[in-house]
Parts: sequence; structure tokens; C-alpha cells
Amino acid sequence: ERQAPGEVEDNNGTMFLGPSGEVLNKLLDNANVSRNEIYMTNLIKCHLPKNRKPKQQEIEACHHYLDQEINIINPEFLIPLGHYATRYLLQKYNQKIPSKHDFYKLYGTLHYIHQQKIYPVQHPAAPLHDGSLQPVLEKNYHKLSIFSHPCKWAPTCPMKHYYEKGLLDKKWRELYCFGDWESCKRYQMEEQNKYHEDWMLPDGSYDEILKNK
Ligand code: SF4
Repeated sequence: ERQAPGEVEDNNGTMFLGPSGEVLNKLLDNANVSRNEIYMTNLIKCHLPKNRKPKQQEIEACHHYLDQEINIINPEFLIPLGHYATRYLLQKYNQKIPSKHDFYKLYGTLHYIHQQKIYPVQHPAAPLHDGSLQPVLEKNYHKLSIFSHPCKWAPTCPMKHYYEKGLLDKKWRELYCFGDWESCKRYQMEEQNKYHEDWMLPDGSYDEILKNK
């Protein structure tokens, strides 16, 4: 999901044509994600003069369409591209908007907000303005490749057992087992054949309540 279509895209009815579209295609190719596998949409539904930034009143006029698309499609992951789409989703789900200085910290991190997984990434036009951003975009978009399937340990992991016994918050399973399992400390230690306790949580912290359960 991104902010608004460009002029060529508006005329063609297709999203992400032109230079930023080429960047996006490469980022998706690297992540082995085809455009056919994802639903792409805009926050603002028509072209803004000179590709200027959307005004608040334009967002307010258009966001109902996006809200309806989200309701109908009910996506497992929402992936806002860039500042405006990310900020809108935070507002939609009643989250605090970080300061301009800290906003970038949202990118490349999976969030679980009101039962919805949200993974903000930088807009694909970003490296066209600042080439030094290319590696971090590649890293963040590459993560999309792992969202298409759960962690290989999900059927047998003790976290499943704790969850089914009502001892574990669903967010752990959604954020890691069915989300960013690559970032799970348990997963990483399994891959390195390192020992860890059964009650270690995916972020590496311990929940003593789970001990001996
Ligand atoms: S807790 Fe970690 S290792 Fe276990 S299933 Fe979830 S992601 Fe995989």
C-alpha cells in the first residue's frame, strides 16, 4: 500500500510504473515475490499535481476506500510503503505516531496491532533520492519472502503447546511463528545447535510462568 498514483500510473490504471516501479520490481524479485501474489493499492486514489505530498484533507477524503479494501480482502499482512501509508495505518489502529526523527525505526519491523500484522517498509522511490538507502531497502523487502510460510518448527515448538494451554499471548505466535520467524531467538539458536530452555520466549526473554508447564 502506498500514498498516491503517478500521472502515467493514473492513465494506465496500473501501480508502480516508471523508475520507482523498476526499483520495486527488483526488490520483489530479490524476495521471490511476484506482483500477482500480492494486492497493491493506494491511500490516495488519484494523481496529485507534480507528485506532491498528500494533504490531510485528501487523506480524509480517500481513506474510506482503503478501509473498505482492507475489510473486504482481510489481508494477513499489511505492508505500507513509505511515510504516508505507514502513518495512516498507525492512525487507523489508534497508535502513537513516532516523531519525524524516530519514524524510520518502524521500517523493517513486524508489528501486531489489534490482531493485524503490519510490516512498514520504505517507499521504493527512496533510493532514487538517496542511493545509500538501497541496502536497507533490500534487507527489509527481502523479509517479505519469509512471510509466505510459517516457521518450520511451528507444528512442534513448545510455544504452540503453551499457546494451546492458554499460557501464551497470541502475539508471540503471530509476530514470530507465523511472521518474522527469522528474527526468533529460539529459531536462531536451533539453527546454530545451541541449547535453550523450553520456556524461552521468541525474543530471548524468559517467562517463569511457563517453566514446568
Ligand atoms: S517460537 Fe520461534 S522457533 Fe518456535 S515456532 Fe515460533 S518462530 Fe519457530
